[in-house]
Amino acid sequence: MLHAEQTIHADIHADVAVIGGGVVGHCIAWEARRSGRSVALIDDAPGQGASWAAAGMLAPVSELHYQEEDLLELMLEASGRWPAFAADLARAGAPDPGYLTTPTLAVGADAGDRRALMDLRSVQQANGLQVEPLTVREARARESLLSPAISCALEIAADHQVDPRKLVASLRELLSAHEPGAGSMVDGATGGFAVEDRAASLLWADGHVAGVKLARGGTILARETIVANGLHAASLEGLPEGLHLPLRPVYGDILRLAVPRHLRPLVTSTVRGLVHGVPVYLVPRQDGTVVIGATQREDGLSAGEGAAGAGAKSHAAVSAGGVYQLLRDAQVLVPAVSELELLESTARARPATPDNAPLLGRVPGIHGLIIATGFFRHGVLLAPAAAAICADLMDGQEDRRWEAMNPTRFSRTHPQKESV
Ligand SMILES: Cc1cc2nc3c(=O)[nH]c(=O)nc-3n(C[C@H](O)[C@H](O)[C@H](O)COP(=O)(O)OP(=O)(O)OC[C@H]3O[C@@H](n4cnc5c(N)ncnc54)[C@H](O)[C@@H]3O)c2cc1C
Repeated sequence: MLHAEQTIHADIHADVAVIGGGVVGHCIAWEARRSGRSVALIDDAPGQGASWAAAGMLAPVSELHYQEEDLLELMLEASGRWPAFAADLARAGAPDPGYLTTPTLAVGADAGDRRALMDLRSVQQANGLQVEPLTVREARARESLLSPAISCALEIAADHQVDPRKLVASLRELLSAHEPGAGSMVDGATGGFAVEDRAASLLWADGHVAGVKLARGGTILARETIVANGLHAASLEGLPEGLHLPLRPVYGDILRLAVPRHLRPLVTSTVRGLVHGVPVYLVPRQDGTVVIGATQREDGLSAGEGAAGAGAKSHAAVSAGGVYQLLRDAQVLVPAVSELELLESTARARPATPDNAPLLGRVPGIHGLIIATGFFRHGVLLAPAAAAICADLMDGQEDRRWEAMNPTRFSRTHPQKESV
């Protein structure tokens, strides 16, 4: 690990500088390293942004929304990549990220919820996605603590899960295993390391992006710079003039609870419910805890930013109403929730865009710069696919399928070189 103070007098050279160490930045850094590139991953609070809160559902089917066909294609691509990505992590000796392929159960509380889930099923099926109805009896045979009063149950075989905190830790360990000695230069052939600082600005040379200026002094000189700092991407200094990254925070409250031994497992698969029209989910972890989430609010109930710096706030105060709603609705589906021990309530902002799709790709005409942000509700699912897309771009290959994610799609003017 390289601390900022060590970089003040020396520039770091790397093939790739990744700004932002959330799940997206870590996956990009690892993919770049696997392709033989040296990597500097810059973040002074790695893994503490939206990725800290995420439930880790890998859910292209349940997350289908009307008129988001382009996003669905990317979500299916991402979902298809997950098994190989997880296997590669294991082969590389990474600690287990808690990747599980147990099917998801979707359940409704009342007749209106059943209608809504069946309507959604029609849309899912029209898009070629598999959602199989179960009787309540069948669902309860699998999950004995489900309420007998639920109105319907559906099995979604393709929706899986990972533990995002473990995933970031796992990737970090892999990257640091390739870290050269602190203070040494990355030689351009191998190596990857974490720089504990913030990016203050993009560094420009001869009209192209040549790396990153660090907040506490020093620079990273890199052939490719990847802006992957989530919600904060828009406030990074030195972005190309005219590049408009319309990111907004959509806050989510989420809870972690311990399941007493006599109730384990509370549920064996992820249970996604609609309770009187309001979504709630329970995601079981292998350590005997369960995650219950998540609200979605844009009320600006945001707390101090802590280490996260200026710009839109990604850390937030937990909403009392949100906690109440989550516990109330989860109990409707699984009454034993009232017997759990509340360990943690967390709130973070999802980095949202106007069309809910990420800002992912090169900025035409600007060498050395790739944008990878705006992953909103799907960053964990999408991260391995985003990393592969970035690696292709660095290899000079552009897959036309992802044109709709172009980071310039909201810019009114053609982005020019460095803003002044
Ligand atoms: C409650 C909740 C539940 C969610 N559940 C799911 C889910 O089940 N499945 C799913 O796929 N997605 C889920 N998401 C969405 C997911 O968390 C995000 O899409 C994802 O974490 C985005 O990752 P990221 O790396 O882009 O951003 P972040 O995790 O926010 O990381 C950005 C990083 O950039 C760093 N940074 C900021 N500015 C700078 C700078 N100037 N220099 C250096 N570093 C900087 C920050 O410190 C931070 O570590 C959920 C989100 C929330 C809030």
